[in-house]
Amino acid sequence: MVTQYKNLINGEMVDTGEWLDVVNPATEEVIAQVPACGAAELDKAVAAARAAFKTWKKTPIEERRNAIRAIGKAISDNSDELFRLLTSEQGKPHAQAQGEIGGAAYMVMNQAELDLDDEINEDNEKGSVRTRRVPVGVVGGIVPWNFPVSMAVQKIVPAMLSGCTIILKPSPFTPITTLRLAELIKDVAPPGVVNIITGEDSLGPLITEHPDIDKITFTGSTATGKKIMEGASADLKRITLELGGNDASIVMPDADPKKVAEQLFWSSFTNAGQICIAAKRIYIHEDIYDELSQAIAEYAKNVKVGDGAQQGTGVGPIQNKKQYDRVIELIEDAKDSGYKFLLGGDVDPSGTGYFVPLTILDNPPEDARIVAEEQFGPVMPLMKFSTEEEAIERANNSEYGLAGAVWTADQDKGVEIAEQLETGTVWVNQFLKLTAHTPFAGHKQSGFGAEYGKEGLLEFTYPQVIMVNKAAEVA
Ligand code: NAD
Repeated sequence: MVTQYKNLINGEMVDTGEWLDVVNPATEEVIAQVPACGAAELDKAVAAARAAFKTWKKTPIEERRNAIRAIGKAISDNSDELFRLLTSEQGKPHAQAQGEIGGAAYMVMNQAELDLDDEINEDNEKGSVRTRRVPVGVVGGIVPWNFPVSMAVQKIVPAMLSGCTIILKPSPFTPITTLRLAELIKDVAPPGVVNIITGEDSLGPLITEHPDIDKITFTGSTATGKKIMEGASADLKRITLELGGNDASIVMPDADPKKVAEQLFWSSFTNAGQICIAAKRIYIHEDIYDELSQAIAEYAKNVKVGDGAQQGTGVGPIQNKKQYDRVIELIEDAKDSGYKFLLGGDVDPSGTGYFVPLTILDNPPEDARIVAEEQFGPVMPLMKFSTEEEAIERANNSEYGLAGAVWTADQDKGVEIAEQLETGTVWVNQFLKLTAHTPFAGHKQSGFGAEYGKEGLLEFTYPQVIMVNKAAEVA
């Protein structure tokens, strides 16, 4: 029998007696089972979170910080076990799984130190005005399958620090590392502060629409984000939406193809391209297009696609069958449309595991589906541009606005272009970097609200202004 992982409700590991299978995307074998929760279990988790909120919101912030630091330490202390589990359910190569677990520990530790002090707006002999930040209450956190551990702590930590309590729902595709994390959290956080429950997608709307949940923080697709917004509108829940992206990179003519090819490759193909902030459209200046596109394709030929648990694997499988089918559909559409491939494109659906060969397209048109849509797979369309203005316009020609990058030897020019991109994050000569102290936020249909940094923390609070009239005569 496979390992069965339990849910965390009110400080106890519990199950429902009904189980969902978890599949390893490299082998297609069932590797574990997790509880299938419905409305009854959600009600229990919400009741526990509501009860815990009464005391947690009044717990001194230093104590709340200490509980968060203990979670960070537990992640680091158990990182070996956690990263192996993560590869087994998510598919990413061991080194990248280690990166996700290490990154999660870093984010937990650093976000624990964010300040939430009151702001003194006025204070004189007549009176005082002070703004304090009050926790919104019980939070529902819903996360996707591409970075299950990073996304889980990205919801749990600011909720805890602000004084909120939380019910977290992992993706049904990748719940087991998060449930192992739940066991670690159980030992260091008071009962009911963090609750983690698993179920099918159908558990999501129950959370969004639950009358005793005050806020939803969601990371996932734009399509689901729209449903969340609709569901949360019934009682005007606060919402934070971190949604899809179709990030553009612009490579200027002064970039040296030999120096940037490898980095451009990994900006697209890390985690098999299943990253909201992966480079999904690469615009290369015509002067270096041929040399750079060849250099990227040559680099890609030496990267091994395979089981993430095997040594030497650089790119793992697509995480699930539904996404695998979608990536194949986009590749087939590109073939049917007669677009030129520099590499890959031939998927063998009869093999075991959801593997897609590294695929690079040579200058497909702007309206190609593989350019205009978020591929979320190991597919990289390279496009040629002539002028800076044209590159900026094409980069901004998207319903998404999550992140982007500029590659150039002239850093000032890089910043000048970066400031014209309509996205929440822009990198100059780097990629995929986030910090614990700066807001990560989407523009356009990539969502709204922020995560990380002070702005991310404030999303879990509302401002309360206390005004005292010191000169009043009331007695
Ligand atoms: P998804 O929207 O299908 O699912 C995300 C989560 O929502 C899962 O837990 C799922 O069970 C739940 N869910 C599904 N239907 C729901 C509903 N009607 N109501 C409430 N919850 C529901 O997304 P996915 O396929 O798991 O993840 C891939 C997407 O996530 C991509 O579009 C990617 O760009 C995006 N993403 C965004 C960020 C970001 O920070 N902006 C980060 C990672 C991934």
